[in-house]
Amino acid sequence: MKPLKNLEVWFVTGSQDLYGPETLAQVAANSKAMAASLNADPALPVQIVWKPTLTTPEEVRALCREASNTPSCIGLVLWMHTFSPAKMWIAGLQSLTKPFLHLHTQFNRELPWSSIDMDFMNLNQSAHGDREFGFITARLKLRRKVVVGFWKDAATIAEIAAWTRAAAGWYESQNLKVARFGDNMREVAVTEGNKVSAEAQLGYSVNGYGVGDLVVRMEQVTEAEVSKLIAEYREAYSIAKQHDRTDSLFVAAKIELGLRGFLEEGGFGAFTDTFQDLHGIGQLPGIAVQRLMADGYGFAGEGDWKTAALVRTMKVMAQGLTGGTSFMEDYTYDFSGTPKVLGSHMLEVCPSIAADKPSLEVHALGIGGKADPVRLVFTAPAGPAVVASMVEMSAGFRLIVNEVNVIAPDQPLPKLPVARAVWVPKPSLKVAAAAWIYAGGAHHTAYSQALNTEMLEDFAEIAGVELIVIDEDTKLRELRAQLRR
Ligand code: MN
Repeated sequence: MKPLKNLEVWFVTGSQDLYGPETLAQVAANSKAMAASLNADPALPVQIVWKPTLTTPEEVRALCREASNTPSCIGLVLWMHTFSPAKMWIAGLQSLTKPFLHLHTQFNRELPWSSIDMDFMNLNQSAHGDREFGFITARLKLRRKVVVGFWKDAATIAEIAAWTRAAAGWYESQNLKVARFGDNMREVAVTEGNKVSAEAQLGYSVNGYGVGDLVVRMEQVTEAEVSKLIAEYREAYSIAKQHDRTDSLFVAAKIELGLRGFLEEGGFGAFTDTFQDLHGIGQLPGIAVQRLMADGYGFAGEGDWKTAALVRTMKVMAQGLTGGTSFMEDYTYDFSGTPKVLGSHMLEVCPSIAADKPSLEVHALGIGGKADPVRLVFTAPAGPAVVASMVEMSAGFRLIVNEVNVIAPDQPLPKLPVARAVWVPKPSLKVAAAAWIYAGGAHHTAYSQALNTEMLEDFAEIAGVELIVIDEDTKLRELRAQLRR
């Protein structure tokens, strides 16, 4: 993944030319100081680039055109230091192809009670200037985030930072290529979908490849490369003697090298495969997929390209934050005590969510009819997380997000040969699972201990997809009413 610091958010201030050069010079100086302060803040993962104050419709249009045409610009922060009559923003905003955040702040924190005069009143007008601007964005039904607060406050900066991560995810979604080996797991519904709709609305392209294309790439791998990678496995993971099977490791390493080569050479950021189409592969890719996910690739099993793309997008959004992001599946429940979920998959859980050094193991897989696959086994650490699912309904895409509390497993799981996370969904398993099922959420999810709901909410707003949040406040009756609308 490319560092987010390569991406720019432009800090744009609106005004008008009625104020005269002296006031406008002060507007420019203040906005420059604000942009510099935001740019230096470690909470903001992207560059904040100051742009000269806009005072005419022509300047607004030119800036929006420039932003739309600059690949590294992923969005705009817009702020009206003074009054900026908003008709001058119509043409520009309607031509803008990048997301924007409307920052409603002012340069001074305190009102200077004893010294305030008309000059001050003339310069510091965002309280009404931003309302004029807000009207036109509402009138034009533009997708946006409104953040209110003093620009140096951590809470304000956190809201801006969440949005910059969503904008980075959107940028990734626009440029993402997903490789799909084989087709869907047969007869599965939720993993199907319209790839044309996805590309039109979300930007990413999904194309199919025969598993034979991967086999051809695997055949180009040399024995020396394989030996080197097996040595890396032995160094990076704990391996009990009975699992250190060179024949199994050889095949697994060859799969990883072939897959990695295929994805790198094709410029892919995400991929999916299916255990029903593994001709010539030898094992279901386990450790290979796990290690590629840990390096930032999006993945989902059984042909699920929507979740693969979501995992990749969320990994890009999460860069630099504490906690991992993985493909996940609600696997099985514990209905005793506080009802909880054991999340896992057949093999493919990302070690970015491992609490401790993963253990490399080789076990038989009761499905797929191939040789015993190599996989990494570990448990996710306790803490807050989100699980998210992108589904395609008849009316379009819907993103469903559930906030969960990951907990330590009640007891050791000595015989479970796959990586796992145990969590209690908010507000409870009883309500959360019913809400999820009413909303049509998939059994596959993108799980993240790095992202929060706000970031995904901002992403859904930018993407223009319907969002269903299941959290502490979820009431089934209200949620069902929301779904009927
Ligand atoms: Mn699955």
